[in-house]
Amino acid sequence: MHFDIPAAVEQRRRDFRDFLDREIRPVGDARDVGGPLSRPELDALVATLQPSGIMHASLPESVGGTNRSFLERILLAEEFARAWPSLAVTIDSHNIVVEIIARQGLPWMQDRYVPEGISGRAIMGDMMSEPEAGSDTRNLSTRAERAGDDWIVNGTKMWTTNGVWADVAMLTAVSEPSQYEKDPRRGVVHLLVDKRISPWRARDLPIIGLKAGTTGHIVFENCRVPGAHLFHPDDAGYTQNLVVRGWARILLGAWAIGIMQAAIDDAVAFARERRTFGKPIAAHQMIQDMVAQMHVDLETSRLLTYKAAWLMDQGRRCDLEQSTAKLHACEVVKRVTDSAIQILGGRGLTTDEGYRTERLHRDARFLAVAEGTSQIMKLIIGRRLLGVSGL
Ligand SMILES: Cc1cc2nc3c(=O)[nH]c(=O)nc-3n(C[C@H](O)[C@H](O)[C@H](O)COP(=O)(O)OP(=O)(O)OC[C@H]3O[C@@H](n4cnc5c(N)ncnc54)[C@H](O)[C@@H]3O)c2cc1C
Repeated sequence: MHFDIPAAVEQRRRDFRDFLDREIRPVGDARDVGGPLSRPELDALVATLQPSGIMHASLPESVGGTNRSFLERILLAEEFARAWPSLAVTIDSHNIVVEIIARQGLPWMQDRYVPEGISGRAIMGDMMSEPEAGSDTRNLSTRAERAGDDWIVNGTKMWTTNGVWADVAMLTAVSEPSQYEKDPRRGVVHLLVDKRISPWRARDLPIIGLKAGTTGHIVFENCRVPGAHLFHPDDAGYTQNLVVRGWARILLGAWAIGIMQAAIDDAVAFARERRTFGKPIAAHQMIQDMVAQMHVDLETSRLLTYKAAWLMDQGRRCDLEQSTAKLHACEVVKRVTDSAIQILGGRGLTTDEGYRTERLHRDARFLAVAEGTSQIMKLIIGRRLLGVSGL
């Protein structure tokens, strides 16, 4: 076993970090507090990001991508979240949908939507969760009914990342309620919906953090979706969905790592400067205790997340490792950002003097809820270890 990151990957990570520190982090530090970006602001940021290669990193070479390994994409995601969590979540969530289209979409979908996704001309989202179906994905009520060649969609989706901006989304809907009631892996379709063709209503659900992004509450009312937009029919979609969810889980682990790194960097810099009782607070043992625990939380999260990414790169089953990494990283990030606030004292709670510690704490909080809550991760781990489902 060796822990070396290939030199070329490490170089690209460093280049991305330098780019982010130069072009993105200063914008985030100034802008995040102002609430959701306007669409022109988002478009300008996507244009700024283009030379960094992040919009192509997850895409296969067949559509002009650079097809980076999962491990490399985790490292890039970590750097992105270190610089500006809100924008990292916005762009990475968009990129996941572009990637699904590039790898699994029909040729016409790839031709049309991948270039729009890379350029940001179309912003993309994933519409699975509903008001009564978050953890309980057996309880979806959005319906897609056949109307000739087309589909008519009715229902409400909730918590869609990028929801207010989204032009295109991967929508999960029940097409055969009787089959779905018997077996939630069946009777479900995925439709690649395009708001410009099949309009829906969207409003923002403001949350505790990720202030520059939008989280959408989406309503489909007799929305006609052309038959050609069927992405995954029936149970094929269920299986593909599991692959995407597994990847998304360790991506959340990477965001947690990036946020922890930012919190530790800031806390360490502050502790070296701030003096009490005649010496830097860094020299007080209780500060060192906090920093040591923060470091252990960060490094254990890295080891678990990198291992899961490495297993994905080997094409090996790793649902246990993905859930373990997601659970751990997304839980410990809460106490790491909390400790950072403690180390900064009053300055950890304010934005007034240019500190971002309170923002990191708020931005981290969603991680233990989205893409499978910590409780659901424990149920997945428990099922694998005990051989019996707790659901
Ligand atoms: C910022 C953000 C972004 C999101 N982005 C997207 C997105 O882009 N697309 C999308 O489809 N969804 C998205 N989600 C939705 C997210 O996946 C759900 O919020 C999540 O699955 C939890 O669902 P819920 O909020 O309905 O909570 P519930 O499922 O109602 O859970 C409430 C509580 O009960 C616990 N619980 C539930 N069932 C059990 C059980 N069997 N045993 C023990 N405890 C249980 C949960 O762990 C939680 O603590 C996002 C959510 C957030 C907050």
